This record gives sequence, structure tokens and C-alpha cells, in this order.
Amino acid sequence: MKKNLRFAVIDIETTGGRADRDRITEIGIVITDGNTVFDSFESLVNPEMGIPPYITQLTGIDNEMVEDAPRFYEIAKKIVELTEDTIFVAHNVRFDYGFIQEEFRRLGYSFSKKKICTVVMSRKAFPGLKSYSLGNLIRYFNIPAERRHRALDDAQATSTLLSYILESQSTANEIYRLVRDLHQESLLPAELPADKINALPEVCGVYYCYDKYGEIAYIGKALNIRKRIWEHFKGIDNKGNKMQNTVADISFIETRSELAAYLTESFEIKKYQPYLNKASRIDTKNIGVYMRYKPEIGAYFSIEKKSDESDPDYLHSFRTIRLATKTLNNLIREFGLCPDVSMGNILSQACFDSMIDLCAGVCCGKEEKEAHQKRLHAAALRIGQKLEGSWFLVDEAPSYDEMTVFYIDNGIYKGYCVVSNEENLLPEAIIDQIKTVSYHTDYQIIIKKYFKKKSIRKIRLS
Ligand SMILES: [Zn+2]
Repeated sequence: MKKNLRFAVIDIETTGGRADRDRITEIGIVITDGNTVFDSFESLVNPEMGIPPYITQLTGIDNEMVEDAPRFYEIAKKIVELTEDTIFVAHNVRFDYGFIQEEFRRLGYSFSKKKICTVVMSRKAFPGLKSYSLGNLIRYFNIPAERRHRALDDAQATSTLLSYILESQSTANEIYRLVRDLHQESLLPAELPADKINALPEVCGVYYCYDKYGEIAYIGKALNIRKRIWEHFKGIDNKGNKMQNTVADISFIETRSELAAYLTESFEIKKYQPYLNKASRIDTKNIGVYMRYKPEIGAYFSIEKKSDESDPDYLHSFRTIRLATKTLNNLIREFGLCPDVSMGNILSQACFDSMIDLCAGVCCGKEEKEAHQKRLHAAALRIGQKLEGSWFLVDEAPSYDEMTVFYIDNGIYKGYCVVSNEENLLPEAIIDQIKTVSYHTDYQIIIKKYFKKKSIRKIRLS
């Protein structure tokens, strides 16, 4: 962790039980990590009002004792400094936190911290006790406390109790989650407070991260935008660090389809080429497999230096010729194709595979050319980026009463649009609403992957 996270265990004494009416008469603070005590602070406070006798009886603090004590505003700065980057811990935390918050409010400051209540945590960590009052827990654990109901002594006892709670596995996890949240906030860029991230919706969509100059630094997609943004600032990995140092603002667009988010992200990254996206997207696959034609044999596979992925004959790319050859050989075997004819060789004799019945024999006239071509096209669809035929893929968003329709025209993704379930549109009307995108292998790969998913409805157009 960047900073050592600490707890501020706090106890106060007051003139009564109501934060809006009563005031603080004493405050005790212990700064600890759960093991070591780093600092402590104690002060009587002049409440600027009388202390009722029954309170004096309980705490031993009377009007005379606080007469010359500092007023709250005089110790406010000290409290802020001591408790900076800590979690506020108290026994019945709502009481102590409420009073301190109210005192700061009177001074015109806001005081806001993560809180842990040792009553709640004790109930979880040590179930079955008859009482979870501080007095009872002190007796139960034999915690030393000389001056009960004095602020520092109670804070010290609570601090000891906290260390026992942290030793208990179940409650420790819960506390460490809180610690982690606080830690994450400390990793946020200065320009991007937690409130801003928490204001992001928990919806599916695409988000844009801007640097302080307003340039798009990163584009991402997420099923839950708010959750994903938090994740970006969690990590101490390279990207997390870059994001922490760069991002100053975030915007988003909601999509009601995961596939739409995926395609939109891909489209927007190509359009804006954000500098934090780029690094991971260098294309090292320079070898292309294409489907070429010769009048004598029809279609065949051709391994070439990759040129244009939008070439309608383009199938797939590989990093090396060896990998391309290996993949094609497996495919040829699987589909019972002729290894020679499938690779464009015009033979006048049977290939070796046909002699051991691995090739159906198009090379030596045992098989019809058309039957071989049919299987070869099926094999090409398997490794190629194109789908067969024209389709609508429909991603329903029933709770919004709408659906996202993706259009595939003769194997190639063209774009999508959102239509209301109410409208009963003809396919032509839907196609008319789509803003078309130009061909890109990335879209084809995404579409092909989603084509297999059960959650996507498929409508064959032709
Ligand atoms: Zn053959």
C-alpha cells in the first residue's frame, strides 16, 4: 500500500445525548494500525454550556474542570490533522461521530470519514455475549481501564478491543474491505474525486477517460461502468498507474447491449486512437490466409503477406507462415480435403493423402469438384471472419422495452440500431435506421464470437 492506513479510535464525553443540543466536554483519540499505537490525544473541551449534575456524576467532569479548557474550535485543527487518512472508530460510532460532525458543522466545516463501530463488530466477532457495552467487554476481556468514562481511557480500551476484533477472521475481512475502499480513494487522480466516480451509473456501455487537456486518453467498455472505473484505479499495475496519473474527467454512453458496447468501443478506439489504448494494440500478425480462385480448380487457400483485411477473400492472419500452415493442415484433414488442390496445386495424379483415404480424392477424379468446393467453403467459414448469409442479431433489453439489432449483410457486419419493441418494423425499415460502418476484421471477430451465444437472437434474412 502507498500509505499506511490507520484507525482513529475516538471517544468523547458530552453534556448530554443530543448532538444538536448538547456539546462535547472531553475528547480522546488513539491513532493505531490495530497493533501499534502511533499517537494519542486528550483534551477537555469547554462546552460553552452547563454540565447537568447527573452527567458529572457519570463522567466526573464538572463545570469547573472545563472552565479554562480550550473550546472546540481551538482543537479542531489538531483533530483534522490527527485523523487525516484514518478510519473513524468508536464504540457506538454514531454517537461520537455525530457529535464531532455537528461541532465541525457549527464551525462551517464538513467532516466526513469512513466509520467502524466496535459494538457492531464485536457482535460479529464474539457472538453470544449477554451485553456488548464497553464496560462489559472490558470486564470480559480484562482490558485495563483506570478512569472509566473519561475520554482517553475509553478510547484506549476501545483501541484494544479493535485489536481483538482484527484478530478474528470474519470481522477482519469486513474491515479490510473498508480499508481497501479508503486506499482506493487515496489512489484516485486529484481531479477525479470519489464522488464523481460514484455518480457514474452502474450500467453497460462505453466510457471515455480524458486527460487534463481534454484529450481522450482511454476508451473502454464495461457491463458496469462505475465498477470498471474503480477497478482502473485499484491496481498498482502499469495501466493503473498511467490512469491515475492521467485521467482528469470521464464521460460515457450507455448501451443496453453488451455486444453494442463491444462494437462501439472498437469503433471509437479506431476513430480517436487514444494514447493509453494504443500500446496494447500493435498488430504483429503479418501473414494472411486468403481464398483465391483458379478456373481449373475453383477456390483454394493461399498464404500471403497480409495486405488488406477488408479484401473479401481475406480469411485470417497469423504471426508466422509456420502457424498458418499448421492451422490449414489441420483444417484440411478435418474436412477431408485434398492437401494439394486445397492449396492451389493443379495435379494430374493422386495425392499421398488420397492413397491412405484422408483425402476424398478430388485430385484423382474419385470425388466431384463441386463436393470438394462445398467442404472447402465450409472450412473457410470456420477460420474466416465472415459469417455465412445475411442476418439480424437481436440483443433484447426487456426491462427497457427495446432491442438492439445488428445487421450482417452477406457475411459482413454493417452496423446496429436500437428499436422499440412497440414498433413492428419491416427488415428494410430497420436496415434504413442503421448508420453503416466500413469493414473491419475486429468487428467480424466480435460478431462471430457473439453469433454463438444463446442470449443473442438470430434472424436469417437470406
Ligand atoms: Zn488429394
